[in-house]
Amino acid sequence: MQNEILINHYMKYNRIILATLNINNKTIDVFNGENNQIFDYKAFFEYVAIFYNLIDDFIDKAKIIFEQLDYNRDIIEIKAEYKKRNGKPVDFVYNLKNEGNGLYLLSLKEEKNSVLGNLDQMTKANPKAYIDNRAKNNILTKTPFILINIDIDNFKHFNDLYGQTIGDMILIEMVSIVKNTLGDRGAISRIGGDRFLVLCEMSDDYDLVHEYLFDLKQAMQKLSSKVNDSMVITVTIGCSRYPYDGSNYELLLKKSQKALVRGKNKGRDCFIIYLLDKCGEVSIDDKIDNINKIENISAKNNLYSMITDVNKTLSDDKNFDESINKAISLVGSYLYVDRISIARVNIKTHKIMKHHAWFSPKITVRYDAYCVDEIVPIWAEALGSKNFIKVDDIRSYPDTDKLKSLFAVDHTTASLSFELVVNGRSFGIIRFDMTTGVRHWQSEDFQILMLISELLASHLQKNYLKETNYNTLFLDPKYGCNNFSKLFTDAGEYLLKADASLFAVMELDIKNIISYRSIIGEKRMIELVNGIVGKISLYDDILYGKKNDGAFIIFFKGNDKRIISNLYNDVSKYLEEFSLKYHFNRLIVNAGAYLANNDDRLVDAMKNANLARIYNNDDKLLFYSDEIIHDIESKNEMILRIDEAIAKNEFLLYLQPKISTKTGKLIGAEALTRWNYKNEKILYPDQFINLLEEQGIIEKLDFKVFENTCRYQRRLLDMGKDIVPISVNVSRYVSNFEEYIKKLEEIRSRYNVDCKYIELEITEGMCYENTMYIKAFIDVLHNLGYSVSLDDFGSGYSNLVSMTKIHFDTVKFDKSFCMDLSNSNVRIMLLKLIELIKTMNISTICEGVETKENVEYLASIGCDYIQGYYYSKPISSDEFEKKYFD
Ligand code: C2E
Ligand code: CA
Ligand code: CA
Repeated sequence: MQNEILINHYMKYNRIILATLNINNKTIDVFNGENNQIFDYKAFFEYVAIFYNLIDDFIDKAKIIFEQLDYNRDIIEIKAEYKKRNGKPVDFVYNLKNEGNGLYLLSLKEEKNSVLGNLDQMTKANPKAYIDNRAKNNILTKTPFILINIDIDNFKHFNDLYGQTIGDMILIEMVSIVKNTLGDRGAISRIGGDRFLVLCEMSDDYDLVHEYLFDLKQAMQKLSSKVNDSMVITVTIGCSRYPYDGSNYELLLKKSQKALVRGKNKGRDCFIIYLLDKCGEVSIDDKIDNINKIENISAKNNLYSMITDVNKTLSDDKNFDESINKAISLVGSYLYVDRISIARVNIKTHKIMKHHAWFSPKITVRYDAYCVDEIVPIWAEALGSKNFIKVDDIRSYPDTDKLKSLFAVDHTTASLSFELVVNGRSFGIIRFDMTTGVRHWQSEDFQILMLISELLASHLQKNYLKETNYNTLFLDPKYGCNNFSKLFTDAGEYLLKADASLFAVMELDIKNIISYRSIIGEKRMIELVNGIVGKISLYDDILYGKKNDGAFIIFFKGNDKRIISNLYNDVSKYLEEFSLKYHFNRLIVNAGAYLANNDDRLVDAMKNANLARIYNNDDKLLFYSDEIIHDIESKNEMILRIDEAIAKNEFLLYLQPKISTKTGKLIGAEALTRWNYKNEKILYPDQFINLLEEQGIIEKLDFKVFENTCRYQRRLLDMGKDIVPISVNVSRYVSNFEEYIKKLEEIRSRYNVDCKYIELEITEGMCYENTMYIKAFIDVLHNLGYSVSLDDFGSGYSNLVSMTKIHFDTVKFDKSFCMDLSNSNVRIMLLKLIELIKTMNISTICEGVETKENVEYLASIGCDYIQGYYYSKPISSDEFEKKYFD
């Protein structure tokens, strides 16, 4: 039962449907966790359409696929593209495995191409889907580009020798170097541990590509100096060209990979441009040397049959030890792994009691000796230390010398280890190794291996439970309250028994509870948690469980919104009282809830509550709704479209005038952008600036606005107009000032506009974090001849000290000042600040000025310039031209 929930959860989470297809009577038996459902073809596709939210014409299209299958093959894999109800295209993969007698195991999978939050957290590289989309777009619009595969040579060696931090730095630097050579011509995506895929829009001319790759390779030499001078880090690069190498994207990818493999074989540290006579023919079904394995460890086989087989094997309790041996050899035969080893521990003594290992028959040198003689003692030591160490990767084990010697011998290119944990209890460690050639784990591999580990863990637990007290597994070890497993089990049981039941789930997260604990101390912490549990327990018809440190999951046997809100408010009020009682800061309680009906599965309801909470991320309760999903999807779309939007000039230049208080005349303007989204609607900055900042792509917009501004100034100058400076906003998240300025200068010189016509606005928030760094940045800007203003002054923690260190030409008072001028304290403060700033030889401007009285008042206290609705809202640059230059 528990395994089935687990598998079911995995399927739902990964959007997979598993089934058995019977081609004799044309039925499909869908595996559904606890029970199966039998459909005919049509009903099956109706089910699929609902599951994936596809438009209706999918049903007819899909039926054809089944009728035209080549049933002579043992393994069939088909890809198809369908449309979702929201208009978005998605790729599907059908995977069939012949089981004989007309039966096929079928898995149907939606390829994930959501990008929100998928930017590689560490390196800030784009998701692969982004490159896929952009390449496909380019092929549609016939824009030439090249596809580059980059692999760092002997990366694992650096990781082992110098530690993971250095390894991470190499990756981060590598992405930033490639990004710099690309500019906005393309993007880079991390497709494996140290593997990258790069798209660069450029001519497919051999010599030009050669020149670009040569420069790229040169630029990579900076890697060593940036990370650690004593290292020599090299890369191997493979490249294919569009349109030269054809217009099939999959084939272009393969050719680029093939070129990389060729480079690796040639001895690494080189770049290879795919050429037929050098690299050989490539066709779409080619398995390119080792590269097919790079894609995905389970690519060759059907996940469903593996899980079923493994589960079946593990259910044999008669000879438990033997069943584990069998199970891992099964896993090994299904996946591209070379070694699987398990150290099982006695959960009381934390000592190893059993070791299991499996080796791939294709390995020529046997490593049994190392496994038994080396790994076991190392693990034993790790396990013997006080508590079980948390192992994500065995390499994190502190005694690296021993491990290093181990790795040095067996050429392991990648290893992943999981601690086998159920309800906070360790049952051992499982480790998966790959030893052959160029191959690294993919995130999908990670999930599959984790699933297998979880399966094993739960079987180990089952075995253990026969001899131990079941109940203690359901209590939080620290606070004694119900843990998550308790909730999950009880709620599952409740839903099984109750036939038609509405229910709801709330996830309630007390933020920053870990750092709070270190402030208030353990004793108060226990009081706090007990207090919260007390409030929750006052309600009838609920079940609860504590998930991890600060999060509670609450299950309601009914779905009355008011009850859920009341409970949330009670907890919130309790936290308020608690903080007042002990004079601590109040904790933030962030919650999401989902109202379910009996069609919903528990895991989905939990997932939706969790989604609502994360989306909300605030000191309040938010109920899950379709709008959340729509919003996430439209944000996904925005991110995917950013380059296209820039190319299509969807970002419009709006200008807001700045007026002199002395003369009443125009003295400048601020560039503010509007997004003419798909030419359908106008988006305002508050709808996209934050998002672009989060995704690390705001600089693209900054440069575009800067370019629009330069172009505009150039045009007016060419018409002989007497122009005024325009200020452009510098985003808060500039990653590298040198590169930023280089780019600005490149754009400015292209339009040949003097620096005196452009001003840069830097927000106050930037200055107090990094004063000396910002000072250097501004000094360079000044030396080049730009004016720099301090934006939003007074909106945050204004730091007057930083103003004494950094010289600004203008200070721009935040609009909150003007919104509050009726307050006499604010008036006095503004008066004194302006007086002070003027003595420093800095001019002053107020923004957000909406009334005549405010204009007059500001003039009377010596404010130099005014920007605000009183004179004009931001208007399109055309309108601005008519109004001020005609
Ligand atoms: P900001 O730089 O502080 O820009 C001033 C904002 O105040 C503008 O909002 C403007 O329309 C608004 N405003 C001006 N006068 C008045 C007034 O009298 N009353 C009121 N209530 N508001 C007034 P907008 O255009 O919506 O821009 C919002 C923010 O978005 C900007 O704040 C800026 O931080 C950011 N932003 C806008 N364009 C860009 C851009 O091109 N690049 C970057 N990095 N950020 C931008
Ligand atoms: Ca501004
Ligand atoms: Ca501002």
